[in-house]
Amino acid sequence: MNKILLALIALSLTYSSCKTVDKPSVVNSEVLSSALKEKTNKPKNVIFLIGDGMGLAQITAGMYSNGNKTSLENFKVLGLHKSHASNKLVTDSAAAATSFACGVKTYNGAIGVDKDTLPVKSIFEFAKEKNFNTGLVASSTIVHATPASFFSHNKYRKNYEEIAADLVDADVDVFIGGGKKYFDRRDFDDRNLLEEFAAKDYNISHFAEKDITDFTIDVSKNFGYLTSDTDPLQVSQGRDYMIPASKFAMDYLTQKSTEDGFMLMIEGSQIDWGGHANISDYIVSEFIEFDEIIQLAYDYAKADGNTLVVVTADHETGGYAIQQESTMDSLVTAFTSTYHTAVMIPVFAYGPGAEEFAGIMENTDIFHKMKKLIIDTEID
Ligand code: MG
Ligand code: ZN
Repeated sequence: MNKILLALIALSLTYSSCKTVDKPSVVNSEVLSSALKEKTNKPKNVIFLIGDGMGLAQITAGMYSNGNKTSLENFKVLGLHKSHASNKLVTDSAAAATSFACGVKTYNGAIGVDKDTLPVKSIFEFAKEKNFNTGLVASSTIVHATPASFFSHNKYRKNYEEIAADLVDADVDVFIGGGKKYFDRRDFDDRNLLEEFAAKDYNISHFAEKDITDFTIDVSKNFGYLTSDTDPLQVSQGRDYMIPASKFAMDYLTQKSTEDGFMLMIEGSQIDWGGHANISDYIVSEFIEFDEIIQLAYDYAKADGNTLVVVTADHETGGYAIQQESTMDSLVTAFTSTYHTAVMIPVFAYGPGAEEFAGIMENTDIFHKMKKLIIDTEID
């Protein structure tokens, strides 16, 4: 049996039902499983999508409110993760993002540090060592807990100015999010980090100068764009950069990563804020925008064939529930909390290596699986 035929069989098994996988009638199963592994286990790129506070009820409410559709239905590999922190059963976004970014359980409030406040090497730092390009897009400030855990090491999430200074040194190839004031009007010191980015050969800009759609891609420089002075608006209040920014980051990293791969993290930050506010419409509108970004990532990965997409949340927010009186057009919802909850969180994966994300796992396993797939294996 030649290699092309094996690869074809492996490919067809990957996309067919479990029934077929149970009975590989022609091929020796050991040969087959190694062929499958070769075919599936080496993504060149990873797009990691985090819907902050996006539990199953949030997804469900968004889906029904969006004509009973979600882009997540494209994903055939599903898992669940356990979100607990080292010091609390109910995690915050900092401990949870550190679990994804660095692979350790830590305390609530920790940014890229372990439970003893010691820095832990992040997947972005591993990726840089392998000549990967990295990117971050968020609908919060770029120094907020979720994106921060990928480039910063700080004992406390609200040290925003210290976290902003870490971004100058992190060599993230493309970043887009809010929080300009932490860069150019600092209480902590007199540094102007926008000037420091420019001196480091970043193409650096912000909302008061340009719109995200005004840029043409120039991969000879890193790219940074700050979308607001403090927290970005809600999507329902007119925030409109997330979709063009996600496209920009994907195009930028594609053009820059002709040989080596890239890792891009995009966060739908404010699904969580709708949960804290106990406002169902806020959750739904933020989810629906994020759902479009998930579709963009899926379409990219499907066309590219070498990109793994992983979609998950850090935790659920609000103890959100869809009640008996609901119809598909009109949800009747309730909340049990204005904070996060400990319920297990869905994980969706598509592309080479997606099978790794089936079943129940710790949130830290998401780091270890991504690391195994793009850092520990050689890229062809
Ligand atoms: Mg967040
Ligand atoms: Zn939250």
